[in-house]
Amino acid sequence: MLLCFIEYPIWMNISQLKYRDLRNLLDQGQLTCVDTVKYYLSQIEAHNERLNAFLEIYADEAIEKAIEIDKKIQVGQAGELAGLVIGIKDLLCYEDHHSYAGSKILDSFKSTFSATAVQRLLDQDAIVIGRQNCDEFGMGSTNENSAYGPVLNFKNTQHVAGGSSGGSAVAVQANMCHVSLGTDTGGSIRMPAAFCGVSGLKPTYGRVSRWGLIAYASSFDSIGPMARHVEDLALVLPYISGSDGQDSTVVSVNEFGEKKPSSGKKIAYMKEMAEHPSLQPDIKQAFFDRLELLKSKGFEVVGVDFPYVEALLPTYYILTTAEASSNLSRFDGVKFGHRTQIATKDLLDMYKKTRDEAFGEEVKRRIMLGTFVLSADYYDAYYTKAQKVRRLIKEYTQGLFQEFDFIVSPTTSSTAYRLGEKTLDPLQMYLGDLFTVQANVTGLPAISIPMGEDGQSLPMGFQIMADVFQEESMLDLALELV
Ligand code: GLN
Repeated sequence: MLLCFIEYPIWMNISQLKYRDLRNLLDQGQLTCVDTVKYYLSQIEAHNERLNAFLEIYADEAIEKAIEIDKKIQVGQAGELAGLVIGIKDLLCYEDHHSYAGSKILDSFKSTFSATAVQRLLDQDAIVIGRQNCDEFGMGSTNENSAYGPVLNFKNTQHVAGGSSGGSAVAVQANMCHVSLGTDTGGSIRMPAAFCGVSGLKPTYGRVSRWGLIAYASSFDSIGPMARHVEDLALVLPYISGSDGQDSTVVSVNEFGEKKPSSGKKIAYMKEMAEHPSLQPDIKQAFFDRLELLKSKGFEVVGVDFPYVEALLPTYYILTTAEASSNLSRFDGVKFGHRTQIATKDLLDMYKKTRDEAFGEEVKRRIMLGTFVLSADYYDAYYTKAQKVRRLIKEYTQGLFQEFDFIVSPTTSSTAYRLGEKTLDPLQMYLGDLFTVQANVTGLPAISIPMGEDGQSLPMGFQIMADVFQEESMLDLALELV
C-alpha cells in the first residue's frame, strides 16, 4: 500500500470523535467518508511499518467503498454505521480476503465467506480498512507468537502490545482505525486494550456468533469490539449480536432478556485478586482509588472471597489446550493453506511435515498439552476434572451476581511487558492471564477500560464483569468511569 499524498482536514482530529459526532459531520456534509478513510490511511502510512499492527491494508477498496457510501449519505440511504472505519483481527474471515490466523499454516488462505460479525458491520456500511496482526490462532498474551512478527506498543515501542488481539489494540491506540473487531478466549481483547490504554469488550458467550471465527477453543471463544470510546463499543455491540443460524450456541436477540431490575449499585471485588502478590503496586493503588471513586458515586463496594483463584489458570489452560488440539487437527496441508514442499513417504508423513513446518512453537506446545490431557490414561485426571472445576467456578461466580451487580478487578496484574521479557518462560506468560480468564471460564461478559498510567507512563486497565447478557448495565457503569 502506498499513498504518496493524502489530503484530509487537518483541523479535525477524526480519531478523537465518537462515531455519533463523526456521523453528524458526515450527515451535515462537513466531512466525507473519503476524508475519514484517507485520515486513517495516513496514520497507517505513518506508523504501521514500525508498529506492525496491520498485516494487510485494503487502501483502494476502502476508498472505493467510501465513495459509494458518501453517495448513499447524500441521498439519505446510508446504513447505521456509515463511514465507521474498522480493522479486523486476522482470525476473522472476510469474503475474498486473506485470513492467516497469524500462522504460516494458513498463509495464502482466502475465505469464501465473511464472519457474521464482520458481515453485519458491512451491512450497515462500515468500511474495513485492513487485517490486523495477532498471536498465532489467538494463543498468546503479547502478540509475540505471531508468525508475522510482534506488534509494538505505540505508547512505548520497547514494550509489547498485549495479545492476542495486539494489532487490533494498537490500531485503535495509534489512530489507524476507529473500531477494531478482536477475539477473546481468555482475555485477548481486554488484555491488549489495557496494555494500550483503549477499551475492549468481551460479550457474554452466546451473544455473538462465532461463524467465521477461526477456532481456538470453541467453548471459550468470543468476538468483540475495541475502541477509544466506550460509546463506540456500545454502538457496535447490538449489530454484531444475535443468532444467524450458523452457530447453535448463540441466543437470539430477543432472548437476551431485560436489563436486570436492580439498583445497579452493588459492586464486589475479589479480595484474593486485589491482594494478589503478582499485582504491580501502581495498579493496586489505582484500583483501590477506583473503588473509592465508586463509593463516592454512591456505589456499595464490598470485598468478597474467591476460593478458586488458584484453580482459574489450570482450568483454563487444560480445557483450552484440549479444545485447541481438536480444533487444529483440521490443518493438515490438504484442505487449507500451507503444504510441505519436502518429498514425503505417504499421507501421514505429509501431515506431519506440514504441521511441523508451519505451526509455531507455542501452538505446538498447546497441541501437545491438549492431546496429553485428552489421552485415555489422563482424561479423567485432567480433562474431566477441569470440566468439574469449571462448573464450580461458574456456579460460585454466578452466585455472586445474586447479590452484586458487578465484579471489578484490575484487567492485568502488570503493565505491558518489555519485548521478549516473558517469551522464554511460558508459565510466567500464562500467569499474566489470571485476571481475565474468569470471564471466559464462566461465559460472562467483561470490559476493560483505561485506569490511568503507571510510573513508567504505561497504561493500566480496569475490568468490570457482569451477569450473563447484562452488557448494557456494564457499559453504563463503564461510561460513568471514563
Ligand atoms: N492469553 C490467553 C491464551 O494464550 C488468551 C488468549 C485469547 O484470549 N485468545 O490462551
